Amino acid sequence: MSAALVHLDGRDVRRRLALACDVAVVGSGPAGATVARHLAAHGVRVAVLEEGLHVTPAEFGPSGIRAMASLYREMGTSVALGPSPIPYLQGVAVGGTSVVNGAISWRFPREVHAAWSADDPALADALPWDALTAAEAALEARLSVHDTEPAIAGQKNLLMARGAAALGLAHRPIRRNVSGCQGSGRCLQGCPHGAKLSMERTLLPDAVADGAHIVAGVRAERVLIDARGAYGVVGRARGGGAVELRARRAVVLAASAIQTPLLLRASGLCQGPVGEQLSAHPGVSVTGRFDQAVHNHVGATQGHEVIGLRHEGLKLEALGFDLAILASRLPGAGRELARRLAEAERYAVWGAAIRASARGTVRPGPAGALVRYALTPADMRIARRGVRRLGEVLLAAGAHEVYPGVAGFDPVVRDPARLAALDADGPLDPRAYASTMTHLFGTARMGSRVGSSVVGLDFQHHHARGLYVADSSVFPGNLGVNPQIAIMTLAQLCAAGILATA
Ligand SMILES: Cc1cc2nc3c(=O)[nH]c(=O)nc-3n(C[C@H](O)[C@H](O)[C@H](O)COP(=O)(O)OP(=O)(O)OC[C@H]3O[C@@H](n4cnc5c(N)ncnc54)[C@H](O)[C@@H]3O)c2cc1C
Ligand code: SF4
Repeated sequence: MSAALVHLDGRDVRRRLALACDVAVVGSGPAGATVARHLAAHGVRVAVLEEGLHVTPAEFGPSGIRAMASLYREMGTSVALGPSPIPYLQGVAVGGTSVVNGAISWRFPREVHAAWSADDPALADALPWDALTAAEAALEARLSVHDTEPAIAGQKNLLMARGAAALGLAHRPIRRNVSGCQGSGRCLQGCPHGAKLSMERTLLPDAVADGAHIVAGVRAERVLIDARGAYGVVGRARGGGAVELRARRAVVLAASAIQTPLLLRASGLCQGPVGEQLSAHPGVSVTGRFDQAVHNHVGATQGHEVIGLRHEGLKLEALGFDLAILASRLPGAGRELARRLAEAERYAVWGAAIRASARGTVRPGPAGALVRYALTPADMRIARRGVRRLGEVLLAAGAHEVYPGVAGFDPVVRDPARLAALDADGPLDPRAYASTMTHLFGTARMGSRVGSSVVGLDFQHHHARGLYVADSSVFPGNLGVNPQIAIMTLAQLCAAGILATA
């Protein structure tokens, strides 16, 4: 716990507390941290309200299961309901999901900008390409975004390069926001070396240095709104006290694409497609067994990617888990499973992120969010293709067998022809695949048409002056690439817009 970063810890707040600022920001992930930093740098008195606590590198442990319990919302058990329930993951900490993410840093894809602008031409002016690229470049410099170096890549990443090259697929080392990475493979549990440049190590300290206050361990419950617009936030501290944060100038929601629509609804703002149009990048994974030791948990957690399949809606990435989670990706039971576990160092697990066309919903449920999301038949064909491609790259990299993990299909595959057979007529039932979602968008979308969007082109709510949404809720769709830099970039434009309304 660092007194320097966090101004107030909600565990100590047992009675009613009233605070005041110019701009209240709810959420301290990439979106909230960027807004806080930009506004504080321009002399605005910012207060960030964060439900999670500040966790330091010394407190991060190696166990993926324990990290889920302490750093992820609902202990990592959040599930979107549909024909096949799909887990979705979000961080809860000062720094938001950046504390537990893979540090993969992608720029906003030009073709996505073109597609959004074609759908709503006013977006081209609201999000000028030159402004986006300038903001991205500055953020990348601050976050030390660079290619994963071979020295810390580890076998699982180097093998992906070999397999992709053998198949003639475009591939590259992943660009990550790290400094001094030792390749310990623990990004998803929180970096124990402080090498991942997540928000609590970069943009939030910048904001605090410029006078921003961070209030941790307080969950915002609703936005205060009167006829003139938003004027604050009320919430509940972990210590039990009610917290009222008055904001003279604006309230910014940056609580994520799941939590922001809930806050809007709890504040009586149900107009437009709030909580509709949830889009995502569901992921599938395949395990391969090599003759040599791979040590999947060693090396940059996610250090190599295949980018030559993006036109198929697929991006392949090396994955890094601890052994307990890797074990869940092995086939068999009893002696057979024990035999495989005995050679756990020989496996690599790689994943495919799917640019899915499905759209889901987020509503308040009996305990948190009620998320519904069903992959379309077209999405399922991409998922099936993804399993094929992952298996092919693993075999081309030298794996002797791969485990597609598709119910109703061969548990062990040694021949690429079987992967082609899977792609041709394998199962399309979503229940046959294990997938997970980590990139979420679209539940308070931005647009020029009031009825079909929630916020306007200035990120301001159509029906509440002074209330802004800065996270990926405002994205009109998904990106097909890892979103944290794009989220920060748009959040920076949101903050610049708030400054301009002095
Ligand atoms: C395991 C995992 C790995 C990932 N890897 C990558 C990667 O390598 N590269 C990449 O680009 N993206 C990655 N992502 C996705 C990326 O981290 C997220 O898209 C990004 O963090 C979202 O930013 P955000 O600010 O919108 O929300 P978050 O980062 O989720 O932050 C929202 C914050 O708001 C807080 N909050 C929510 N509700 C309230 C409330 N009512 N009151 C107070 N506080 C509240 C939350 O506790 C949280 O801290 C990954 C995601 C996961 C789960
Ligand atoms: S691979 Fe290890 S050292 Fe590198 S950023 Fe991730 S957790 Fe930190």
